[in-house]
Amino acid sequence: MSSDQKIEASALLVSTIKGVGEKLSSTLSKLGIITIEDLLFHFPIGYQDRTTLKKIAELEPNQDFVVQGVIEKVSQTFVPRKMLLVKIKDNTGHLYLRFFYYFPGLRNIFKEGTLIQVSGSSRLGRYGLETVHPEYEIVKDNEFKPQILAKYPLTKGITHQKMRKLISEAIELIKLEKIEVSDLLPPHNFSSLNESIVNIHSPDPKSNIEEFLVGGSSEARKRIGLEEMVANKISYLSIREQNKNRITSTFQNDRLAKTINSSLAFKLTNDQVSAYEEISADIATQTPMLRLLQGDVGSGKTIVAGLVAAHVVEDKKQVAILAPTTILANQHYQNFVEWFGEEEVKLLTSKIPAKEKRLIYENIAEGKTKIIIGTHAVFQEGVTYKDLSLVIYDEQHRFGVSQRLKLKEKAEDYPHQLLLSATPIPRTMAMGVLSGLDISTIKSLPPNRTPVVTTTLQNNRRDALINRIKSAISKNSQVYWVCPLIDESESELIGIEDLEKILKKEFNSKEYEIIHGKMKDTDKQRILSDFKEKKTKILLATTVIEVGIDVPDANIMVIENSERFGLAQLHQLRGRVGRGEKESFCILMHSDSLTELAEKRLQIITETNDGFVIAEEDLKLRGPGDILGLSQTGQPSFTFFDLLADETLQDEAERLAQEVVKLPAEQQRKIVERWFPAHLELSDV
Ligand code: ADP
Ligand code: MG
Repeated sequence: MSSDQKIEASALLVSTIKGVGEKLSSTLSKLGIITIEDLLFHFPIGYQDRTTLKKIAELEPNQDFVVQGVIEKVSQTFVPRKMLLVKIKDNTGHLYLRFFYYFPGLRNIFKEGTLIQVSGSSRLGRYGLETVHPEYEIVKDNEFKPQILAKYPLTKGITHQKMRKLISEAIELIKLEKIEVSDLLPPHNFSSLNESIVNIHSPDPKSNIEEFLVGGSSEARKRIGLEEMVANKISYLSIREQNKNRITSTFQNDRLAKTINSSLAFKLTNDQVSAYEEISADIATQTPMLRLLQGDVGSGKTIVAGLVAAHVVEDKKQVAILAPTTILANQHYQNFVEWFGEEEVKLLTSKIPAKEKRLIYENIAEGKTKIIIGTHAVFQEGVTYKDLSLVIYDEQHRFGVSQRLKLKEKAEDYPHQLLLSATPIPRTMAMGVLSGLDISTIKSLPPNRTPVVTTTLQNNRRDALINRIKSAISKNSQVYWVCPLIDESESELIGIEDLEKILKKEFNSKEYEIIHGKMKDTDKQRILSDFKEKKTKILLATTVIEVGIDVPDANIMVIENSERFGLAQLHQLRGRVGRGEKESFCILMHSDSLTELAEKRLQIITETNDGFVIAEEDLKLRGPGDILGLSQTGQPSFTFFDLLADETLQDEAERLAQEVVKLPAEQQRKIVERWFPAHLELSDV
């Protein structure tokens, strides 16, 4: 058959595969599989190794295996539940197969004396080694066929065996040159897409499985990973492309910013000045800004945002500032009131009484209020802006993409957007996942900081800790004491209530207060201001204090069960101390025995105060998935592309992406759709 007769896989519905009826089609659609191309892009999440035939005696519990054996006995029992028990043996030992769900005819397939091949996963059962619901086949010509079998994401109504069968039918069609998946990338030196798809679904049994997994060295994996990254880049680059065609207000006046700057009690650091200049240059042009300002905890991002906001306020336009929590919104409100005065700045959270809220809405709609600070309440239905021109998102990774979009819809013109992040983003990641954003970085902390001294301490040395804290608070120190949970739902974790019991015995009840996320906001506010005013010495808290709280006199941070936290989060928490003149300490409590990985991670935190170094190390130890809370933001985690191992592929992906964004929108759309259908909402390519 000549190549021009191949049909495009995206033009064929899955129902064109034989055996796929209405019911199966509808099941497949739940997995996003509508066409044969979708089916072929339903990639394996792992593989089952069936390359070596084992002897039964060689099997160990909890491993995947293939054996051949003769059926010795078949029995059906009903206690404790209905099941079929099949005993097989080879010349080294015996193995039980258990089936809880089976069709009645299965008994007759398993005839005593028949040689069968069984593959599955072993476990230790009551009578020795067994396997539940294994795959099986009758051995015909005494031959063993080594296989690497793909494992797929499934949904109710479809089994692995079925999914494999469907995909292998589609693959057969490619091999017979009846269909093809069209290659949407510009020319490159990687292997062909169709060949790669075939190989990734059914690797050569002689190869090493690792080569086909994320980061692996097979040609197929690289080709697919490359396309995945290109697709990801396009979805962001296209936002940027569209942005280029949008026009928004420009801001050049910096008189107000200068006035505010000169009234500050401190001098901006060089990094703050350059970040401010970069952002000012962005909003001086008609293209809407899309910039991330990243800087370690306490590096002073807020004032930079404040000075930029001053440009907009000076021109009588509006700024919205979004904080992830009410506490943080309040704190920003206090700062901005100090810089801009009460008239211009309003706080908008869901807790504000309706009557008051209506008045605030009115002032916003009339343009009297220039700076609106709040939680997602600033997105709410009732809010209309007169001329919203700049949106600042603090701790951006806490907001979902859809929330961001909602706000954009409110603005008549497309506003400038500034994202603040205290989670430094390693370069390798920034290139991969944020290619649509410009980035400004504040590298160094203000000069008045003394680095936090961080130590680890085993739980069994708690007495020593308590003595140390007693002595410190007698010398006017203040302490944050952080627990991962409100109460202990897992026994080895110390909950805030357990800890309170301990503190009750050791400290005067006026010396400490408890704060956690489930409290009323008004209570939280009161407790925080008591702490700020030094009425209390110890703040017993959950991670509600993680983000942005600023109490310069607190200089001790105790973190319970520190091995349970992510490195970025530990670093954030630690950033609550080390903000004043006094030397600061962070004590990481942990269980008496640690895994090697946990030990390594805590060691990183004790050895450096540099958030960028921590982020890089975290990326190496954990992989990229969790660093930004990517799943939360709707940003992708990759199936095949490995942000670390594939640094060399990045440049090629970037080159291809830059070419693809010049192609017609329809073509760009196709690539993104294959990989990240959810991004389409975002980028309206
Ligand atoms: P973050 O970057 O974590 O949001 P903040 O903006 O809250 O940090 O700043 C932390 C603290 O540092 C604040 O109390 C702020 O007033 C102070 N600060 C900011 N810039 C400077 C500076 N250049 N010199 C001294 N203190 C500063
Ligand atoms: Mg901040």
